[in-house]
Amino acid sequence: MFLRSLTVPLTAIRGIGPAQIPKFARLGIQNVAGLLCHYPRDWEDRSLAVPLKEFYRAPVCTEITVLAHDWIGFGRKRTLKVHVEDESARATLLCFNRPWLEKQLVPGNRYRLWGRFNYKYSEIQSSSFEVEPLDGDMGESSSAGFGRLLPVYPLSAGLNQTMVRRFISQTLQHYAADFENELPAEIIERDALLSKAAAIRAIHFPASAAELEQAKKTLIYEELFYLEVMVGKRSRTPSKSVDEQNIDKNAIDTYSSLQQRLLERLPFTLTPGQREAAADIDRDMTHNVGVSMSRLLQGDVGSGKTLVSFLAALRAVEDGGQAAIMAPTELLARQHAENAARLLEPLGIRIAFCTGNIKAAGRKELLLRLASGEIDIAVGTHALFSRDVQYKNLRLVVIDEQHRFGVTQRALIMAKGTSPQGVPHLLMMSATPIPRTLALTVFGDMDVSVIRDLPPGRKPVKTHLAKQSSEARVYDFVRKELSAGHQAYFVYPLIDDSGDAELKDAVSMAERLAKKVFPRYALALVHSKLDEEEKQRTMERFRSGEIKILVATSVVEVGVDVPNANCMVIEHAERFGLSALHQLRGRVGRGLDQSYCFLVYSDELTDDGKSRLKVMLENSDGFVIAEEDLKLRGPGQITGTEQSGYLNLGIANPIRDIEELVRARTDAFAILESDPDLLLPDHRVIARVLETVPPFDEVAL
Ligand code: ADP
Ligand code: MG
Repeated sequence: MFLRSLTVPLTAIRGIGPAQIPKFARLGIQNVAGLLCHYPRDWEDRSLAVPLKEFYRAPVCTEITVLAHDWIGFGRKRTLKVHVEDESARATLLCFNRPWLEKQLVPGNRYRLWGRFNYKYSEIQSSSFEVEPLDGDMGESSSAGFGRLLPVYPLSAGLNQTMVRRFISQTLQHYAADFENELPAEIIERDALLSKAAAIRAIHFPASAAELEQAKKTLIYEELFYLEVMVGKRSRTPSKSVDEQNIDKNAIDTYSSLQQRLLERLPFTLTPGQREAAADIDRDMTHNVGVSMSRLLQGDVGSGKTLVSFLAALRAVEDGGQAAIMAPTELLARQHAENAARLLEPLGIRIAFCTGNIKAAGRKELLLRLASGEIDIAVGTHALFSRDVQYKNLRLVVIDEQHRFGVTQRALIMAKGTSPQGVPHLLMMSATPIPRTLALTVFGDMDVSVIRDLPPGRKPVKTHLAKQSSEARVYDFVRKELSAGHQAYFVYPLIDDSGDAELKDAVSMAERLAKKVFPRYALALVHSKLDEEEKQRTMERFRSGEIKILVATSVVEVGVDVPNANCMVIEHAERFGLSALHQLRGRVGRGLDQSYCFLVYSDELTDDGKSRLKVMLENSDGFVIAEEDLKLRGPGQITGTEQSGYLNLGIANPIRDIEELVRARTDAFAILESDPDLLLPDHRVIARVLETVPPFDEVAL
């Protein structure tokens, strides 16, 4: 049996009752297979002695004598304090909520102790420790795991390490022996990997550090192998080489007549990056008859992707079709629609704006015009693809800020391809770049164009870190820029004062900034709770320059383009993800004057917070920032609330494990090429695994 087929309910395990189920569900564990795939986040080495006096170096692991008992606090808060010593030092154990330790820790007796200690009130103290009598069982059977590597699991409320360890250990005893290998035997042999059964046992309870490494290596490779098998199976042209993609890079200036007319109307010329991207797209849309384009256009904020998508839309229209341009927010969709109207309507192109907010009568008329082909380019939110929307001949779908949309939305969109030419061309755009390493794997079936340059004349944004306690200096600086005629953004992590008194919020700060800090400048507030009309009016007034200061939440994160705004102040910057910070910073630096970004952080910032903000200070390249973000947080956590994840991996990390990734990719693609239907005896196992529970959740786009 495959591990993944072990869909036995958790209640089959002794000690897990219906009441515990939600606690496991919160960790994403639904059944016994899920429990065994709940890998430790760390392993504590309890095989090495660390005496008390070295508590600052590592968790203490030593033998102690109990000296005396003491009680601190009163009433229900009364807590036992146990004085202990080993050869090196004395220390105290604080037994919060563990009154029974009074009986167990007998003065004069010797115990094994494991714990994390701090120096406090001139004592070496611990409240998180484990003990067992020295004359108790030794080694393997030691319940506190002395003498070996002990797993440390991610937990949820109501579960503790001891419980999870016990459940997993029981489950392993019952089921592990039966697990069948999921990798082809030739690979297991070639790389000297563990069997599946051994790897699962060793990842939880390794007999040695070396065995742990082997278990990790096996499970990481297996995950990446199946990821790449899936990528390979979806892939249209898996073996397309970079060389092939590069052909014709010079034969690019063959714009269609509509494209030519648009370019002539622009007050600037395309950057080389824009030209190349436009040429890639044109080639996809015209040369390969019968094959539809599937291309990801990456370009840092402000690199001018919108214009490239307009060029693509013109090509679709010129070929007798329609184009749909979709943005994740109404604000951004409206901005695109306005730009399209300004740039494309003079060419005779019929534009429509379509969002969920369009009133019934207007909507009906709009739908008729889309269905009859009276609209050439529809710009909007995901409402563009509501059930009742029909296109006459949809030839191109552009998805801006693609990472904001989920897989189902993408599927819905492609299903609208009623074009006689088949599936519409797809152009996805992203400024929150997918790191190169991930693009290679997850988007293995897509072609990628990258705009690496910014329009000329842009000055890099100057970024400064500021402590919250010196916010006044930031405000003074912004005031000077305002008096020079510029505009500014102030961004906060919360909309309003909903309980968290520690954090500044947009609503209260808008009031404070307007009344106390910048009384002479017009100020307005936008956040997601306002209705669309009001948001749009405010944005319009900000764009026209009537409003000088825009106080916002991260709604202004994507796409908004106001070149005269040159200051971006982000308060509680440590609360934002790096990609969000990068996007926010990208709102300024769009005009010709020097722009500034202030990352204001709370006075007590963790080390992790510091290193993240430092990344922002030292890098302006969105690709580097995205890679750093991935390194610091791991791909699992890149997922924000509104962002669907890139990948759902259990133990592999495509950045850290890049070598395994490349190896797995090579292996998977070679197998698929030589044996596409997986019929060879050694490959049958792959086909069978794919037939069971899908190895991964769909990769989100
Ligand atoms: P993004 O790639 O972030 O979506 P936009 O498409 O919003 O960038 O473009 C940012 C700004 O740059 C817009 O004001 C746009 O008009 C301007 N722009 C685009 N291409 C060029 C160019 N080649 N030269 C100068 N400005 C440009
Ligand atoms: Mg954009």
